[in-house]
Amino acid sequence: MDPSERLRQLVLRSASAHNVLPLTSACNARCTFCSHSLDYPGLDVQRLYPRDVELVRQALAFLSPERKVIIGESATRLIEGEPLTHPQFLEILRQVRQRLPETPIQVTTNGSLLTKHVAAQLRRLAPLSVSLSLNSHEPHVRRQLMRDAQAEVAVRAPRLLAEHGLPFEVSVVAVPGVVAAASAFQTIEYAGGHGARRAKVYVAGCSAAMFARNGWDASPGRWDALYDDLELGRLECSIPVTFQPPRLQSLAAEVAGVFPGSPADVAGVRPGDVITRVGSKGIKSRSHAHYLLGRSESVALEVLRGPQRLTALVTQDTDEPSGVVLDEDLSLIRLTALEARLRQAPGPLLVLTSLPAAALVQCAVARARTKAGVTVVPARSGLFGGTIACAGLLIVEDFVAAGQTACASTAEPFAAVLLPAEPFDEAGLDLLGRSYLEVCERLETPVTLL
Ligand code: SF4
Repeated sequence: MDPSERLRQLVLRSASAHNVLPLTSACNARCTFCSHSLDYPGLDVQRLYPRDVELVRQALAFLSPERKVIIGESATRLIEGEPLTHPQFLEILRQVRQRLPETPIQVTTNGSLLTKHVAAQLRRLAPLSVSLSLNSHEPHVRRQLMRDAQAEVAVRAPRLLAEHGLPFEVSVVAVPGVVAAASAFQTIEYAGGHGARRAKVYVAGCSAAMFARNGWDASPGRWDALYDDLELGRLECSIPVTFQPPRLQSLAAEVAGVFPGSPADVAGVRPGDVITRVGSKGIKSRSHAHYLLGRSESVALEVLRGPQRLTALVTQDTDEPSGVVLDEDLSLIRLTALEARLRQAPGPLLVLTSLPAAALVQCAVARARTKAGVTVVPARSGLFGGTIACAGLLIVEDFVAAGQTACASTAEPFAAVLLPAEPFDEAGLDLLGRSYLEVCERLETPVTLL
């Protein structure tokens, strides 16, 4: 396909399917952990330049007023950079606000161009919140990590955002031996002290090439130890913290955090509680609890706290959501589709997953009590290697390798194979442009995307 047509499709799809408005792939930092450095030759990823501003304007028409508009994040195979480097950043935001007068906007930024003038202009575009990729509250550490020449500006950003009444959250990256959990939490507490509502810790997946380039230690035990420290740290943190990807072993809707002063906080919900019912509905996963909480006003939550079963009456309205923060597990659509496939399984089923999803899929399988045998196998990234584990970066070859190993160790052939849909675009092609149907041919088994 003509590259300019491909770019047009990706920009419009990003807006129409995800409510994400892409602005530019340019960035003023060069983070050691940046996923742009995964740019292997031949990958189907596209770059957007400020000169493509007309395309961005066309995409405005595809944004929905019903969902938050996100700027500065990537939802398709477009590389997203730092939105504030776009010369028409504020002008485009004003156009979004003009078209969607009441829709919340979220700007994700590394903060190094957040001046008083920009903050004041953003304030005028309320409701608008900022997701600040802070990474460190110490300029010299931030400079080292992000090679950011304006690290001081970014470190002052939490105070600036608070002064301008702009709601914000922060993100920090954690990498074993590079950014320890203790240092991540110092940054989070710094931001929390200036009013950050919540924090995300990105446990950076690093390719083999990134490890080699940066001289980092790739041994898997270090990743487990980092998660152990992060989980301990968040119990003591003053604001809710979630991890990307989370290290989850079950679908139980365990509360990761509660916004101070929120309806859930007032009702007595605490981090570590497991939500078992929302109103009259039994809860089957975190995403299920999240979905129901988003649709309820006053609602009774049944929670387990250790051996105790408690009820909390949460009174919320559209302006004040519940305040319950949950890690992300399997999306509700994915879980429901998986349950349906398990019920209808024509015979032994092979479910290929990403590494972080494997334990969760296994839980769903155990709960479904399907009569057909089900084998769950995580696929590993052969292309990127290292600790890259997210589903979106797996390719056909990874699924074929995992599937062939599973087929070789089973006596009865599989009747069907399930694959995660994330690695494939709307035409069913992976990052290298190969169709998921190739998995079907090479395993000689029908394949379905979930
Ligand atoms: S700020 Fe974001 S886009 Fe820019 S280099 Fe860092 S990780 Fe990459």
